[in-house]
Amino acid sequence: MLKLETSVQYLPGVGPKMAGKLKRLGIETVRDLLFYYPRTWQDFSRPVPIKSLRIGDNAIIKAEIMEIKISRTRRKWMSIIDAVLGDDTGQIKAIWFNQPFLMKVLKPNETWLFAGKVNWDFKGKQKTLTVTQYEKPTGTPLILSVYSETEGVTSKYLRKLIKPLFTTDTPDVSERLVKEYLPEEILKQEDLIGLSKAVQDIHFPQKNIDIETAKKRLGFDELFLIALRLLLNKKELSKSFAPALTFDENLLKDFVGSLPFKLTNAQRKAAWEIIKDLTRTMPMNRLLEGDVGSGKTVVAAMAALVTAKNNYQSVWLAPTEILANQHYKNVSKLFEKYYSSLSRTSVVNTSQLADARSKNKIKIGLLTSANKKANLAKDDLIIGTHALLQEKINIPKLALVIVDEQHRFGVKQRAHLRMGTVLLKGTVPKFIPHFLSMTATPIPRTLALALYGDLEISIIDELPEARKKIVTKVVSPEKRSEAYEFIKHQVKTGRQIFVICPLIENQNAKIMPKGKNQNENSKSKINQENLFNLDRKSVVEEYEKLSKKIFPELKIGLLHGRLKSKEKEEVMGKFHAGKLDILVSTAVVEVGIDVPNAAVMMVESAERFGLAQLHQFRGRVGRGEHQSYCFLFSESWSETTKKRLEAMTRCSSGFELAEIDLKLRGPGEFVGTRQSGLPDLKMGSLRDIIIVKKARDSAEKIVEKGIENYPLLEEKLKEFENQRHLE
Ligand code: ADP
Ligand code: MG
Repeated sequence: MLKLETSVQYLPGVGPKMAGKLKRLGIETVRDLLFYYPRTWQDFSRPVPIKSLRIGDNAIIKAEIMEIKISRTRRKWMSIIDAVLGDDTGQIKAIWFNQPFLMKVLKPNETWLFAGKVNWDFKGKQKTLTVTQYEKPTGTPLILSVYSETEGVTSKYLRKLIKPLFTTDTPDVSERLVKEYLPEEILKQEDLIGLSKAVQDIHFPQKNIDIETAKKRLGFDELFLIALRLLLNKKELSKSFAPALTFDENLLKDFVGSLPFKLTNAQRKAAWEIIKDLTRTMPMNRLLEGDVGSGKTVVAAMAALVTAKNNYQSVWLAPTEILANQHYKNVSKLFEKYYSSLSRTSVVNTSQLADARSKNKIKIGLLTSANKKANLAKDDLIIGTHALLQEKINIPKLALVIVDEQHRFGVKQRAHLRMGTVLLKGTVPKFIPHFLSMTATPIPRTLALALYGDLEISIIDELPEARKKIVTKVVSPEKRSEAYEFIKHQVKTGRQIFVICPLIENQNAKIMPKGKNQNENSKSKINQENLFNLDRKSVVEEYEKLSKKIFPELKIGLLHGRLKSKEKEEVMGKFHAGKLDILVSTAVVEVGIDVPNAAVMMVESAERFGLAQLHQFRGRVGRGEHQSYCFLFSESWSETTKKRLEAMTRCSSGFELAEIDLKLRGPGEFVGTRQSGLPDLKMGSLRDIIIVKKARDSAEKIVEKGIENYPLLEEKLKEFENQRHLE
């Protein structure tokens, strides 16, 4: 009997070879197959007239095959079928690559429905339909699901595999496999269709409305399960204990008074929220969000100060060695100022002063793989990198964990940190530490609610003083050399420059050199994505070009993720020390590095990055007294790209940009899902705040009543987590 766990290999028409191919799509079991949702749907019930086709359209036409013939390319790597299709309004060329069998299927004078994309032909003269689907016209409406495909696995094939799971001769299969787990009351209240029906309709809708109701149900499920998991975590956490700290208002006033600047109101508010949390026995679990340069460091330092004054310890984790060093230096400086200011207050003679200083002294340690200036038993605050996690670390009185740039740590590491499993082996084993994570990634409200539902959030939405605005320009290709001249000039006046590219090496460029013959060089069928990638700048190529051709007289460094971390640190260190004029880098440079002398941020293939990420890049410059610039280059000029890049020139608020990007591109793209640890939700309902709220409300009700009263739901939640962990 078919089970969800059954390997697809045992389905009729699969076998080991196809199973291997399916695996590339992440489909290994019947479950994977059922929940492999279509990417889109094609509505063959509404063909459009040929006359109305525009370049770039994904269109469906109903046309007669006027002519059809097959030819081979010179090197015999490919066969090409050429056809002329016609309807009452006109004719269009159609092509297929490497599908010779179609000559037996598509006969002259027959009428078919064709779906595909309208492109120019190779000579750029004639409109051509690159056909992806073809169907015999039938009387009934025909909506076909289209999946993400891979070589040898077409949408047609997938439909054929999935169909029998829903056919009437085995009526119980889908019902039995796709068990309803949502309680009746939620289904009713949210007006959702049953799960089995939703899964069936998502693959085989009869009408367009079926897709909508199915999406509504499946989208709700994803958000609901995430919300449920987070709320359960929160409940779990509320059962554990952290040391409740006390704080002395005067002491904090002294500290704030010793700062070389006045705190912004947003900083005060955030600090207050955090410190209030520290006084509770329920472990703090708070995210401090604030744009680059909004001054998160000093706020976190205040929390560490309170902790130290209670004779407890704090740990401050940074994602890289450089950042850890930078924090160590900056935080030490903040506290130094504080000690020296003590002389102005309560203290009279020098011995009293020395005494007060040593009593107030906060001992700060640094622990990275290169630097071990820490005394884990005695330091009040230990700043470090992953090294703090990897080694057998015992920090006996740990009460506060601060994680800077939290999205830079893996999802697992964060969970690990949260529970303090590595760090808490000391004398207070029952306690778990308070937890403060920080991020400069602005997270739109919808996302925050949906994905960080177990966290309290403090936002610093105000930048200190009037910082100089970074002049941001979208540079058109013909202005490129002007931009290079500008950069030369900037370097002459002593400034440093960042150049960011999205790729390490342009592999596609090797396989498919640009030009007319690209098809003949590729065995696989033409893939739009590959063609597109040709335009993506590779950091290695760019480095070569800049250092050999454009700026041979300048000192240029190269930084990317494939370098060893020693090498990375070395390059960054050189740039930091002003020994390089230009740093050509991939996104690895994004992390909060501080090079006040850098004044130009130039981003290649800017359309490839999320706006929040571009904004982070931009935040790398304008950190010193110099007027700074951000230049955005792009090879693609779609409407969305134009709108997005234009938004960069207009907005200087990361939050605003994040909201705009969420609207224009959807959440998956928002910060680069992988690295941010945001789940890639299949249904993309994250865009809709109302659904997010509803899902959360429903989850809250379940948690109130106790999940143990919903065994099916409990089981589903486990399954959901297992899947997410495997990803
Ligand atoms: P981020 O939030 O990006 O971590 P930092 O904490 O590194 O920002 O602060 C950026 C810079 O602004 C630092 O040099 C810091 O000393 C300074 N700074 C922080 N708060 C203020 C303030 N209220 N007024 C002026 N400068 C501030
Ligand atoms: Mg910072």
